[in-house]
Amino acid sequence: MTEERRSLLRSRIRDVPDFPSEGILFKDITPLLADVEAFRACIALMAEPFDGEVLHAVVGIESRGFMFGAALADKLGVGFVPVRKPGKLPAATHRAEYELEYGSDAIEIHRDALERGDQVVVVDDLIATGGTALAAKELVQRCGADVAAFVFLVNLVDLRGAEKLSPSRVITLLDY
Ligand code: AMP
Repeated sequence: MTEERRSLLRSRIRDVPDFPSEGILFKDITPLLADVEAFRACIALMAEPFDGEVLHAVVGIESRGFMFGAALADKLGVGFVPVRKPGKLPAATHRAEYELEYGSDAIEIHRDALERGDQVVVVDDLIATGGTALAAKELVQRCGADVAAFVFLVNLVDLRGAEKLSPSRVITLLDY
């Protein structure tokens, strides 16, 4: 049953070569979002590992992490907290910088978004090098909260991002 659901998800992820730049094979999740059965199966598979666990929030990373994160938060019965690109969140923020292939980028969280000791799940559509997720972990910790787990729909295994998040628990639905 779980394998059936995984193959449904796999069939709804489209490879787009050379986007956004040459040499990148982009994993396009919009066909999955557009298919209610696949999207529901995705959120159910993301939620199942947390059955019976006490959690306080789902943190979603801009922007595809918002789509999965908001639905997962609803399913888990907790609130949703956005992590955004710099300058988007209106109130006081923490900021974490991370390295890209060329240069660096940053993400932010509202300083009052989480309570000290909160157990949170951090969600994004895909983990590649793990740099973005690691920066999100830093933001959660600067709020005084803990990352109970990371959840990703897609894991680009060769880039070994999940190893960068060790010893945190990392749940991925599809390995490529
Ligand atoms: P990273 O920080 O290297 O783990 O990159 C993860 C972020 O970049 C996620 O927000 C992804 O949505 C996006 N991303 C990186 N590589 C790809 C790819 N091949 N296809 C789609 N999104 C990607």
